[in-house]
Amino acid sequence: MECREFQKKIPVFVEHELNRSSEERMKTVIPRDELLGFVDHASNCKTCHDDLEIYYMALVGYDLAKSDASASFDFSGMLKKRLSVIEDNIKKRILLEKSLVFCMWLGRISVYLLLILCFIVFLF
Ligand SMILES: [Zn+2]
Repeated sequence: MECREFQKKIPVFVEHELNRSSEERMKTVIPRDELLGFVDHASNCKTCHDDLEIYYMALVGYDLAKSDASASFDFSGMLKKRLSVIEDNIKKRILLEKSLVFCMWLGRISVYLLLILCFIVFLF
């Protein structure tokens, strides 16, 4: 993902983080590949990460301050943790999908092998 594209997605990402419960967050509004690209760019581009952090701090901070003005928050840590959780969830889902595809492929091969074996046994 390019910096320009990342910058455009910052408000969408942060508002998405704000407005949804953790359950709804799983059904993300940002397509998975884009979200993974976003998280990846955030960890590899310091300028964009800093911009994201400022935006995150402003909006999430405002939201949290409304509920508890006296508390102090580690926004940088919170953001890093969120990005890490999102990345882990996406990678786990991709791995699960690949495993399912492999299992289906293995199942098909087994059926074909069984059919060939039955055919051979039937012939001889
Ligand atoms: Zn960048």
